[in-house]
Amino acid sequence: MRSISVFGATGSIGESTFDLVMRAGGPAAFRTVALTGGRNVARLAEMARALQAEIAVTAHDDCLPALRAALAGSRIAVAAGAEAIAEAADRPAEWVMSAIVGAAGLVPGLRALRRGAILALANKESLVTAGPLLMASAARHGGTILPVDSEHSAIFQALVGEDMAAVERIIITASGGALRDWPLERLAHATVAEALAHPNWAMGARITIDSASMFNKALEVIEAREFFDVKPDQIEVIIHPESIIHSLVGFHDGAVMAHLGAPDMRHPIGYALNWPVRSPLPVARLDLAALGQLTFRAPDLARYPALRLAREVMAVRGQAGAAFNAAKEIALDHFMAGAIGFQDMAAVVEDTLARISAETRLGNAVSTLEDVLHMDHLARVRAAEAAGQRSKGR
Ligand code: NDP
Repeated sequence: MRSISVFGATGSIGESTFDLVMRAGGPAAFRTVALTGGRNVARLAEMARALQAEIAVTAHDDCLPALRAALAGSRIAVAAGAEAIAEAADRPAEWVMSAIVGAAGLVPGLRALRRGAILALANKESLVTAGPLLMASAARHGGTILPVDSEHSAIFQALVGEDMAAVERIIITASGGALRDWPLERLAHATVAEALAHPNWAMGARITIDSASMFNKALEVIEAREFFDVKPDQIEVIIHPESIIHSLVGFHDGAVMAHLGAPDMRHPIGYALNWPVRSPLPVARLDLAALGQLTFRAPDLARYPALRLAREVMAVRGQAGAAFNAAKEIALDHFMAGAIGFQDMAAVVEDTLARISAETRLGNAVSTLEDVLHMDHLARVRAAEAAGQRSKGR
């Protein structure tokens, strides 16, 4: 029986993971070691009871009393805080889902890899901010990283049995997000609610807005560069509004392998959960005749400046990914709070990268976790300054 831990259990990816585990038989099919969450302690406790977890951890100290009360009478241990989450990752689960949102997901993933676990990686910030650290850690300690992002899972699956030397290009598909058909001049006035209306995928709020701005795709491009170790100019992005092809790999004989499926995150999660076995999954089957056609268009960089910024980040590499991600998170916070406009997000990130490159070497290698945390902190401070200036100017 595979032992598992789920970090970010109460989120969108966490819920889908829970759904698959429960459908497979719950505690009869998997031994659950740790479940972690943030403020939704009622749900965390419910999941921990259903899966008979060893420990439930909330990220917030002030949520601990409520978690303890919710699990009173059970044998499930409770804990709180970032360090407790990191310690939960040291507990010996063979398979670990990394689905905390944001930079907070990095440390537990690294800790799991350091003990040789299989890390199902949904948290895209990990590879963007600390790709070399993660890959080196997996190689040194015998850990395995399995991509959970639907695009990277698609690429991973298209590469099974293939030689990386035969790969010419990776083509990442993008739905284009909620605002893809808006006239360019309206984008500046887009509200949070409008950016949240994703046409195809039901996801957490932050990633849904990142889809509309294509910051999500920008992160994925950087993530693909780190995970598959291809050159930046081997990665292409194509808008595919139907979200049926999840990504493609082109080989040097001209063949292109595409991965198709219904837009349901339970597919890539289930693939990782059962890997290396391909097990039956409760996802909708494609009816190609009913679909009729699949369409594609090139992304317009004026509409999606995040894609241009991703190219710049890959050219610099080093700590630029950590700065980019942190600046993006702060810009998103300000947009969600109504302080800056939709298009100001890319301007804030660009401004932050310029400010940091003027005062430090963005291209310095990521050698330690401290390098990442330091750059993350610096970029947050500079991005808050940049966002503050923009919000005053509105
Ligand atoms: P959600 O916002 O739905 O869930 C986030 C999870 O992280 C929740 O369990 C939340 O707890 C917890 N959390 C929030 N802040 C912290 C913190 N500081 N420390 C510890 N835990 C915290 O996010 P998603 O599930 O949508 O996304 C998770 C990750 O997966 C992201 O990195 C995202 O980019 C990536 N991803 C998501 C996809 C999707 O379809 N949703 C697709 C591909 C990748 P609580 O809710 O209890 O406060």
